[in-house]
Formats: sequence, C-alpha cells, structure tokens
Amino acid sequence: MIPLLIVFIFCVGACLGSFFNALVSRFGSEKNWSPLSRSRCDVCDHRLGVLDLIPILSFLTFCRGRCRFCGRPIPAYYPVIELLTGLLCVGLVLSVLQPLHFPPLIDPNSVVSVSLLYSFVMIFFLATLFDYQYQAIPKSLIMTILVLGLVSIADPTATEFWIIRVIGGVVGFLLMTSQYLITRGKGLGSGDIFLTLSIGFFLGWKLLLVAIFFTYALGSLFGLFLVLNKKASGKRKIPLAPFLFTGLLISLVFGSDIARWYLSLL
Ligand SMILES: [Zn+2]
Repeated sequence: MIPLLIVFIFCVGACLGSFFNALVSRFGSEKNWSPLSRSRCDVCDHRLGVLDLIPILSFLTFCRGRCRFCGRPIPAYYPVIELLTGLLCVGLVLSVLQPLHFPPLIDPNSVVSVSLLYSFVMIFFLATLFDYQYQAIPKSLIMTILVLGLVSIADPTATEFWIIRVIGGVVGFLLMTSQYLITRGKGLGSGDIFLTLSIGFFLGWKLLLVAIFFTYALGSLFGLFLVLNKKASGKRKIPLAPFLFTGLLISLVFGSDIARWYLSLL
C-alpha cells in the first residue's frame, strides 16, 4: 500500500512541478499570460501536445531533450524541477505518515496543521523558483507565504507555543533588516526580509536560527564555489530564497535535534 501511495504522490508532485514550471516561464514572457492556457515551446511558440506535457518522462522519451517541432534543446531545468517537486511531496507526506521530528512543531493528526505545512512549503518552493529565474519574487506570493506564517501562529492545534513563533518572526525580521541596511540592499532584497519573517512565524525562534545558519553556510559555500570556478562577477546577484528554502527544510526535519544539541553545549 505504502509503495503505491508513494508512486502516486510522486506523480501528483511531478505534475505540480510541471505547473510550477509553466507559471514561472510564462510570468517572464510578454505574450498573453494565463496560467491555465496550453503550454507552448519557448523558442518556436508551437503549442505542445499531450505527450510533451507528461512530466519527466516526456523529456526522457518522446522529446529526448529537444522540442519535437523546432528541434531546439529544452533546458534540463524543467524535468529537474518536476523531479524535485515530486520528491518534495513524497518527503512531506512521509514526514507526516512516519513523523520523526515533526511532533515538536505540528500535530500530524491535525488536518489544519498538515495543510498549513504543505501549503507553506510548496508555495515557498514556488517562490524560490521565481527568485532563481528572475532574482525577484511576485509580491502576491510573498504575501501568501506571510499570511500562511501568520495563520500558523493562530493554529490552535500547533504544538509550539504561539509566543515562540511571534519572537521567531521578530528575530527573523530584525536580522534581515539589519543586513539589508548594512549592505544597503545589495546582499538581499526586501522580499527576503518577508520570507525570513514568515519562516520565523512558522518555525519559532529556535528552529529559525537553525534555518538561518544553514542558509548562510550553504550560501557561502555556493559563493566560494563560484569564485573558485571563476563564475562569480561583482554584478551577478546570488538569489537568497533557494538557500532560505533549503535552510527551512533542514530545520523542519533536523532542527529540533540540532537546537537541543547546541543548547546542551552552552
Ligand atoms: Zn520549439
């Protein structure tokens, strides 16, 4: 039962990833934008067939990495996002079915808590895709994430005390605002401040600090990688949201253990 369920959830997640790809790619195009219209090739603008729309498989089999109509290569980014979204959905469901570290944060039996967790993580993931692609996130997405963070404070079934979450939001806001002011907006955008505020509301201050630690640790490693490979330039801005998202995931799964271990050292 469980393996079948996992395959089904992965497929649903991959389709959601395909929808995310369409949202992100159409957002930047000048053409008549509608999230529900049929996808077209980015290069030749040919309407894609049903076979071209099957997540991951169409890239590997029918299309073989190229548009069937104009023969231009399709960026590997598309199937990778579909794969990641599928894995993310499986990870989220497994984490609730077989909770390892979630009990300190949410009640896995509460539909409200679980729905909030899924919505928060998936919409945050969509925001990271926008940030990765355009170094900007639509305001409507940031506001949705912020509202979900605020609602999570009021969730009556949440296992974390509400004041811990309010302090988390304040800590996240102050940390990011001070960095914004010190770097004069060069190190991060105003959207990153609201994303961190939302993570603080959602996780509480202890898990937020774990998330921020991993955000900067991974961001620094990535920056070092770019410098060593001579890919970094002063003008190129590294989007922060993908690192914030990775920090959020690490903190969701391992944050309680890491925070407990760290506090035991003090
Ligand atoms: Zn084409």
